[in-house]
Amino acid sequence: MTTKLPIYMDHNATTPVAPEVLAAMTPYFLTEFGNAASRNHAFGWAAESAVEKARGQVAALLGCKPIEVVFTSGATESDNLAIKGVAYAYRDRGRHLITTQIEHPAVLDSCKHLEKDGFEVTYLPADRRGIVNPDDVAQALTSKTILVSAMLANNEIGTIQPLAEIGRICKAKGVLFHSDAVQGVGKIPARVDELGVDLLSLTAHKFYGPKGVGALYVRMGNPRVRLIPQMDGGGHEKGRRSGTLNVPGIVGLGAACELAAGTMDAEATRLTALRDQLWAALSLRLTHIHLNGDRYQRLPGTLHVSFEFVNGEALLLSLKDIAVSAGSACSTGSTHPSHVLRALGVGEDLAHSSIRFSLGRGTTTEEVTYVVNRLVEEVTRLRSMASHAAAAH
Ligand code: PLP
Repeated sequence: MTTKLPIYMDHNATTPVAPEVLAAMTPYFLTEFGNAASRNHAFGWAAESAVEKARGQVAALLGCKPIEVVFTSGATESDNLAIKGVAYAYRDRGRHLITTQIEHPAVLDSCKHLEKDGFEVTYLPADRRGIVNPDDVAQALTSKTILVSAMLANNEIGTIQPLAEIGRICKAKGVLFHSDAVQGVGKIPARVDELGVDLLSLTAHKFYGPKGVGALYVRMGNPRVRLIPQMDGGGHEKGRRSGTLNVPGIVGLGAACELAAGTMDAEATRLTALRDQLWAALSLRLTHIHLNGDRYQRLPGTLHVSFEFVNGEALLLSLKDIAVSAGSACSTGSTHPSHVLRALGVGEDLAHSSIRFSLGRGTTTEEVTYVVNRLVEEVTRLRSMASHAAAAH
């Protein structure tokens, strides 16, 4: 069987919309196009009932109440709303926040914004395996801490963070706990009570839903989380997020949640096997390569590898038939070494020679074999060019 090219191994950047998700969305572009806030006619009622169905589907995946789900334009907005919204609502109680050095820019830059506005933020390190130590959270808490924010799974290296332990520590101290769970939702269990989170950000396009739609889970009881909205307007989403609802997108998000709930376990087993096949074959056939992030405590489909003595950009350029990432696509066009790898203590040269492989629904064992063969070919070629160049000097 010939492998169809190019091969897509960048599912942490985004995923295709699943056919069943698109089918669920289509009527809401065409015939059921009403505004969910139009309360006095059938078009509005149909849109509203579709939005409420989707709210239930998101809540079912997260194990929360539908009313605790706020629809947004994606995780960047959810992270901003969670962090700034809590900070400004609780600023009289304290002005200290805790997060980690390996967060997505949507979290880090929301924190930087708050620092400019008189808040203090502690950025906790991750260990060499890319995992944050819950004891560090316990030690960093002060009487002024109002929020801890830690991601469920890292977008670059794929490591899964010990959220349940961090959640217990926060709960014991009465401090709110937010998680950017974007890379975990739909791939691994992310139930809000098991994780112990009070706020959780997710986005549809990372798990076969459309781009430009996401949600923020906001706990409504024990404790009831207060938020200052970050968008002023018509008071949609019970005043938590104004703006006409993206009905087709929200329907797609709901359908993606339902699809994930039904396929997650089998897909996680399948992707873990493919990921392990990829690493086993690469490490058998190439020397001087390093796996970044813990070997096991990682997302089923994510592998992040550094190739010593290879220029990462040259390698990516030579792999035109394979879509992988040099770091994360989220920091648009940046050529700086990843802040995540730096936080892990990976040297600059090695950080520049790293590739993230993120596997997904469409990935096959034939594709993995093809990718391994191409990498062995190109890494060997680039290394021999480099050693010839060194010999010529
Ligand atoms: N948080 C993480 C961990 C991500 O990987 C991404 C990816 O883009 C985001 C937040 C931003 O999500 P969105 O594209 O929905 O704004």
